[in-house]
Amino acid sequence: MSGATSACRLRERVSPLSTRSAVEIVEVSPRDGLQDEVTRLSTDSKIELIERAMAAGVRRIEAVSFVRPDRVPAMADAEEVLAGVARPPGVRLAGLVLNQRGLERALGAGVDEINVVVLVTDTFSRRNQGMGVDQALSMWGAVAATASSAGLPASVTLSAAFGCPYEGEVDPGRVRELALRVAEAGPFEIALADTIGCAVPPQVTGLVRSVTGATGLPVRVHLHNSRNAGYANAVAAVAAGVSTLDASIGGIGGCPFAPGATGNIATEDLVHLLDRMGIDTGLRLDALLDASRWLAGALDHPLPGQLAHAGPFPLTTIPT
Ligand code: ZN
Repeated sequence: MSGATSACRLRERVSPLSTRSAVEIVEVSPRDGLQDEVTRLSTDSKIELIERAMAAGVRRIEAVSFVRPDRVPAMADAEEVLAGVARPPGVRLAGLVLNQRGLERALGAGVDEINVVVLVTDTFSRRNQGMGVDQALSMWGAVAATASSAGLPASVTLSAAFGCPYEGEVDPGRVRELALRVAEAGPFEIALADTIGCAVPPQVTGLVRSVTGATGLPVRVHLHNSRNAGYANAVAAVAAGVSTLDASIGGIGGCPFAPGATGNIATEDLVHLLDRMGIDTGLRLDALLDASRWLAGALDHPLPGQLAHAGPFPLTTIPT
């Protein structure tokens, strides 16, 4: 093979990355990030975290969840958090909802959008939500109908879409079928969540293309970095045409009902990566790094994100 031919083939392989020049990042640290932390942040600190994210340019934030306080005590003050955030125009605050009761609370608290979770396996769904997948689909349909009549945009997340902590491998055909079923209730977006951080890039590419092709809906991707493949998966998602990624400041996160699940991909690390690839996120790295360091102090432990330790490249100070 000639050098020119291999260079040409390489360009063909990487060319999909150049088709997307901007990616929207949804900040999930206030919800996914804090729900599994041992240290309980005060309501004021949660508000500060959200306001720091907004100051860094984030325009969409999963701020709270409306779930049973006895199941997820860290989210018990959802209403107070939302009431305390000064919301500039153009910012959308989302609340995670698992049932009609949660939706009623979300409507009362004045969220801009809701996100409803449907687990793709029966075992995980029963452990997380106390209902099987079919029942969760009915719940989603009912919640989506009520939200629609209230004029509240609803997205749906298919959780454990790349692998389940209880049932193991997940058939991508089943996820595609579930995506078609949840699409019937009219979400504005479907999220594919790697809840336990087990996905690998070809899996992400394949499932994103499959669900996008089947439903015609925008697909958001939610990645955990439990096995250090989160950033490779983010690049694969963008290459497959995804325009919205979830991430959390400092890389905090987890799921109280998913053994072994660790943090989300870190917002600042992801922004640095995408910036260096020429993909705009609209976010300010310096403000994200400040927020990450502040959050490490508030939680009183080092956070998984690497950029706060290594610093952005090119270096502004010479390491000693
Ligand atoms: Zn998550």
